[in-house]
Amino acid sequence: MGFERSDSAVAVLGLEGFVLLAAVEVDGELHQLIETEAAVVGCSGCGTRALSKGRRRTKVRDLSCGGRPALVVWAKRIWRCGDPDCDVKTWSETSPLIAPRASLTERARAEACRRVGRDNHAVAQVARSLGVGWATVMEAVRDYGRPLVDDPGRIGAVGGLGLDETAWQRANAHRHTAFVTGFVDILAGRLLDIVAGRSAAVVEEWLAGRSQEWLDGVHTVAIDPHRGYANGVAEALAHATLVVDPFHVVRLANLAIDDVRRRVQQDERGHRGRKGDPLYGIRRVLLQANERLSDHARVRLEAGLAAGDPRDEILDTWLAKEALRHMYAADTMAEAARRFDAFVKEARSSTVPELHRLAKTMVRWRTEILAHHRSGASNGPTEAVNLLIKKVLRVAHGFRNLDNYRLRLLLHCGVKWQTPAATRIRGRAPRLVA
Ligand SMILES: [Zn+2]
Repeated sequence: MGFERSDSAVAVLGLEGFVLLAAVEVDGELHQLIETEAAVVGCSGCGTRALSKGRRRTKVRDLSCGGRPALVVWAKRIWRCGDPDCDVKTWSETSPLIAPRASLTERARAEACRRVGRDNHAVAQVARSLGVGWATVMEAVRDYGRPLVDDPGRIGAVGGLGLDETAWQRANAHRHTAFVTGFVDILAGRLLDIVAGRSAAVVEEWLAGRSQEWLDGVHTVAIDPHRGYANGVAEALAHATLVVDPFHVVRLANLAIDDVRRRVQQDERGHRGRKGDPLYGIRRVLLQANERLSDHARVRLEAGLAAGDPRDEILDTWLAKEALRHMYAADTMAEAARRFDAFVKEARSSTVPELHRLAKTMVRWRTEILAHHRSGASNGPTEAVNLLIKKVLRVAHGFRNLDNYRLRLLLHCGVKWQTPAATRIRGRAPRLVA
């Protein structure tokens, strides 16, 4: 194999069109002096062959190299037009790999976008590791992320569409809680889009942006029991089966448990729950699935209820929640319907007002709740996307800007990243001849 003298240096550098002149380690960082191979250049004004007017060094941060932060020092050529009458006097050379006045190479910017978007690392953390500012990294995320998110082919065909609301900004002294509606591919567990608001109108508007062919392909729509969403899909997706998915049903039952617990707590102790109160101690255990309780948790649950729930109101609500979960374990639609109606009868005969309210909501959505047994749509993907959404919010410590929030969410759970996988090193003969 015929190697040129500098082939290894060029391969290590990996910046096409550049050659590595020198590399030196300074205080634990790798500094690489590079220049372009361009020798013959024409003037952009008149095409006359340009004359070199020397070089000027410009520094940019690059991907870390061998575990060290890397700095690239580009000895940039200054050109002068050879024709003294030309209006174009001098210019410095440019490269698509390193933008003028940039503080990061383009490949480092692309990597910053992958780490923040795909891997959900905090912007500040990526900025620190690259030795640049927060705004520089966020700009890279926008520049490289937006084309992925705006790609018209991104959404693709969807058989099962899920709608879900998320509070993305909590209320404070200056604003109300702000909600967004998430559109989810419930079969693939992929976030399709995020829009502000949670009304029928925002759903209609988003659906209006889809093609008729796309709408025809949707056979199932999963929503939380929320009239706005049902109305929003009523026209454009009239042909699809409307389903209230188990995740939301169980969530409503859990909210009822919380409500009853707080009321009983107040009645019994005259104050809000706090450390040391029996009910406060079991507030999380109450929401867990019965079959997932450890022996220890079960003992705590029973002791907490014995000490703090004298009229069995929390117990009744907890049993109702488990009855709803039991319904979902039914093998057939008929059996699920039987269990559903038994739940409603039980809840209505109870003395707990929160249970009456829960039963009322369930009855209103009976068709859509039971439709779950027909749709075959699994609960898992929607829940998985929900968890991802919460994770992105947590890593970013909340967002002030909805565009940034949408971008981060879609980059993390709404786009397919084309990242070449490294080849396996075992069982392959290395192509190195030294
Ligand atoms: Zn010229």
